[in-house]
Amino acid sequence: MKDANTFASFIATLEKVASQMGAHPDIVKYLSVPQRVIQVELPVEKDDGSIEIFHGYRVQHNNARGPYKGGVRFHPSVDIDEVKALAAWMSLKTAVMNLPYGGAKGGVTVDPHSLTDRELQRLSRLFVERLGPFIGPTTDIPAPDVNTNAQIMAWFADEYMRLNGNDGHAEAAFTGKPVALGGSLGREEATGHGGLVVLLEYLKATGKNPKDMTVAVQGFGNVGSHFAHLADKAGFRIVAVSDSEGGLYYKDGCNVEAMIQSLTAGGKLEKNICYPKKSVTDVQDDMNSCEPISNKNLLELDVDILVPAAVENQLTEDNANNIKASIVLELANGPTTPEADQVLNDNNITVIPDILANAGGVTVSYFEWTQNLQNLYWSEEEVNTKLDQKMRTAMQEVLQTKKDYACTLREAAYRLAVGRLQDAMLLRGWIHPRKEDQNGKVNGD
Ligand code: GLU
Repeated sequence: MKDANTFASFIATLEKVASQMGAHPDIVKYLSVPQRVIQVELPVEKDDGSIEIFHGYRVQHNNARGPYKGGVRFHPSVDIDEVKALAAWMSLKTAVMNLPYGGAKGGVTVDPHSLTDRELQRLSRLFVERLGPFIGPTTDIPAPDVNTNAQIMAWFADEYMRLNGNDGHAEAAFTGKPVALGGSLGREEATGHGGLVVLLEYLKATGKNPKDMTVAVQGFGNVGSHFAHLADKAGFRIVAVSDSEGGLYYKDGCNVEAMIQSLTAGGKLEKNICYPKKSVTDVQDDMNSCEPISNKNLLELDVDILVPAAVENQLTEDNANNIKASIVLELANGPTTPEADQVLNDNNITVIPDILANAGGVTVSYFEWTQNLQNLYWSEEEVNTKLDQKMRTAMQEVLQTKKDYACTLREAAYRLAVGRLQDAMLLRGWIHPRKEDQNGKVNGD
């Protein structure tokens, strides 16, 4: 069941880090509330002519560092508390990556798999219509998140242009679009790719060799599947993967490519075939080499690296003491509660935090936006080289901060992000300098 206090978890970590770093007291007040909460009701016509009402949200948390930025998720458990937390994490994520953005998030409480394509398109278009003037290339730029994809971004962008016209930059109002409609090469894989770069950078800094390290991945959507695929190619041994209904465990490693190829239309793992680490054509062989595994048991496997890549609140005080991995790479947003975080830290388990580990997606969103604004498009290689640089720099800055302040990686990432938000808010005059914030008098040019 979903934890009802996801936003409270964000505030707990924020308050802890702000106090450790002696942040301006007003910063906590500012970041503890979103700047704007938009709630929309969406009466969608079903194919049989009946109307069903869906509830939608867009939370704009902070824009001190640039336009609001963040995805939109379609999921039955979306509620305002969750969207507020996700929006706040985006403000921190864009700050830790030093992207010129603020943070926002949207959501619609719906199981998109229960709708036909036409119904989903009507819902997507209506959501954009209802958000009206609150979104746009210089105000708030939505993107994909859980259960939303390039097709949905195409409907969003088309509806936005229908309502607002196209001044030549309208496609920059959304990122994660199909490449044929101004999307960026490399965007689809970006979150998984960025997560792998950060992991490799961490292993390099701590002198560990990735070869044959075992990995369990919870969640096999866009993020989990691309990460598993790239990590497999990089020499890690992917021993377990799961979707929301459970997963498969292979002691000797699984054939990630075959698993991706046989995903169902609804994006689920086909669990009645087996995928041992052999050639793609051999997937039906050797049924004994795999075992079904529940999501709960997957998290507790004896692996080197655990990758929660699904939804929030998966590592809690109930299971944190059972986690055997030595590294947790948070590709989901908010998979670890503050209580679990403390336990993992006490047990010497390194957590590479979400606002850094999964920031590859928003980073390539930023590249997509800049390409749209310039009408100048980059090769996949250029995108990936720039992404690698950004991820490595952020990881190095977080590692340095961890060393300087003897804190966890999450605290270090929050420290960097809150510091950058504080600087922006001081310069804008949203908060007023204390003596210690006055670095020198302002002399005229
Ligand atoms: N939904 C992704 C995230 O949580 C991407 C957001 C974006 O590209 O704006 O970071």
